[in-house]
Amino acid sequence: MREIYQELGIEEKVFQYGQQFEEKLKERFTCIDETAEFNQLKVIKALQTHKVSAECFMGSSGYGYNDLGRDTLEEVYASCFKGEAALVRPQITCGTHALALALMSNLRPGDELLSPVGKPYDTLEEVIGIRPSKGSLAEYGITYRQTDLLENGDFDFKSIKNAINEKTRLVTIQRSKGYQTRPTLSVARIGELISFVKQIKPDIICMVDNCYGEFVEKQEPLEAGADMIVGSLIKNPGGGLAPIGGYIVGKQECIMNAAYRLTSPGLGKEVGASLGVIQSFYQGLFLAPTVTAGALKGAIYAANIYESLGFPVVPDSTESRHDIIQAVTLKSPKALTAFCKGIQAAAPVDSHVTPEPWAMPGYDDEVIMAAGAFVQGSSIELSADGPLRPPYAVYFQGGLTWYHAKLGILMSLQKLYEEGLVQL
Ligand SMILES: *Cc1c(COP(=O)(O)O)cnc(C)c1O
Repeated sequence: MREIYQELGIEEKVFQYGQQFEEKLKERFTCIDETAEFNQLKVIKALQTHKVSAECFMGSSGYGYNDLGRDTLEEVYASCFKGEAALVRPQITCGTHALALALMSNLRPGDELLSPVGKPYDTLEEVIGIRPSKGSLAEYGITYRQTDLLENGDFDFKSIKNAINEKTRLVTIQRSKGYQTRPTLSVARIGELISFVKQIKPDIICMVDNCYGEFVEKQEPLEAGADMIVGSLIKNPGGGLAPIGGYIVGKQECIMNAAYRLTSPGLGKEVGASLGVIQSFYQGLFLAPTVTAGALKGAIYAANIYESLGFPVVPDSTESRHDIIQAVTLKSPKALTAFCKGIQAAAPVDSHVTPEPWAMPGYDDEVIMAAGAFVQGSSIELSADGPLRPPYAVYFQGGLTWYHAKLGILMSLQKLYEEGLVQL
């Protein structure tokens, strides 16, 4: 084993440093496998319930009328995530698009949107109009309010209560921390927040940005009272196989609104060809629970290694997990760059290229990204990114297999070690 790692560029010292943690993490990894087993069965049950068959994989072109594969897949998603209906489409280009679609289709001029969990994900700032942008909700007369989490990470119930008013129509709850260092929300905590909001105003639509959270727990946010969950298929639920796409699952009315916005009033879910990608959506969903488990193991492994070296990590080495993201505060641009170089060097694709910071559309600061992915930009595949701003935190996620995640983390450590940024 040592030899093959060496052939890949991992020095003996780095390999040995990593090994000690694997032993220590055996019990936690068993718990992750148990969740994966439960979720695997949940997915199989949904596939069987809706009688998925070979005809579902045929795909359609043109208008896509009566696309059996598309319609059945949406039923499978609805069952699996415990919603009334679903919209799962290759025409939803990414997670931001899915979120924008869910918001724009369920809000009307004069309505107000509330985020009770602080600043939303960077790209949503332009969707909402926090940063002025063409086509934002703000341009359509939809206002926005936000209450931040308390210093200790708790919900600020008093401020949330004060923020809810007669205009408040939709509450957006981001499960994952995104580019922040706040804790990720568990499904149980999301449920607590939703019941509080609904107690004050029962007709508020509670939407959860579920990006990176799918299959990490046995339950999903719809089971905790959410009206809509939204995510990207090049993250967890696509299982690494979906080459594009997004989903919205939830209440019938919310989904219909989204469908009429995605295609056209009057057409809704009836159109939208599934082209040649529909089988990968099914097969990706089938693999998603075990793929997510591998990514989760990688995140925990990284937390343990980097915490032991004195870098602040969120979540820390022992706390419970509710998404696959691992933040490591690397404290310098040099260390952030070295980490990303390591992830890149461990990739199955493009391992020979060097990541450089760039001004990515939708983001405020320059971002450095490492990804050698089969699907471009896929972040269920092993990837790392971080905005070039203090405290130089890297957000590390994915790995289609645990073994690849492990190699990536060891390679990142190798690069930091080579540059004299850590001592082992
Ligand atoms: C990834 C992500 C998004 C946006 O998804 P893209 O596919 O990158 O557009 C939104 N919210 C959260 C929490 C995310 O992690």
